[in-house]
Amino acid sequence: MMNESELRKEIIRTALDMHTGGLVQGTGGNFSVRCAEGFIITPSGMDYALLEPEDLPKLSLDCTVIEGRRTPSVESALHAAVYRRRPDVNAVAHTHSLYATAASALRAPLPCLTDNQAVMFGGDVSAAPHAPIGTPELAENVSRALAGGAAVLMANHGALCVGRDLRQAAERCRMLEIFAKIFFTASSAGGWTALSGEEAAKEAADIAARYGQK
Ligand SMILES: [Zn+2]
Repeated sequence: MMNESELRKEIIRTALDMHTGGLVQGTGGNFSVRCAEGFIITPSGMDYALLEPEDLPKLSLDCTVIEGRRTPSVESALHAAVYRRRPDVNAVAHTHSLYATAASALRAPLPCLTDNQAVMFGGDVSAAPHAPIGTPELAENVSRALAGGAAVLMANHGALCVGRDLRQAAERCRMLEIFAKIFFTASSAGGWTALSGEEAAKEAADIAARYGQK
């Protein structure tokens, strides 16, 4: 278990990785990790390359700033809503990656075109209805559409992934971007046939039993 100082450094490292990887642009996106009193999140509109650990505010789950002098991310209410609904989630990553954002403008779930998406996301990735940035309505729409899943598209905006830790949430952002790219590539090549819900569920269960080191 990381202490809060390590968590803050991990958030900064992840935000920089996401920026370098093109999953966010400029000061866009936001990243948080659950802590004992609530969660620690990136501040609003600050250059990730200039962040110091003390720049990251600590908030309670009702979004009151407990620690820190910086204004927290405008999407703090969204992160809080996810933590309140999902006790199993310890980290939230919100990105504006190119293909996932393009997919979000279709306002439809991202179909499950590959075995890998079935294994990682259990099937289609759900789509949350549109609401303006930083509003309670957006927090409600996105946390509701996420439900028990690992990722969700935010209409005409981007994507959000969750994880047991920030490493997993960030990896899911990277994979979601690849799956969205596969979707557009297949679409431009003439079309696709998605895995059915049954096929995706079976694939996910089989691989969970057989893949990796025991
Ligand atoms: Zn955003």
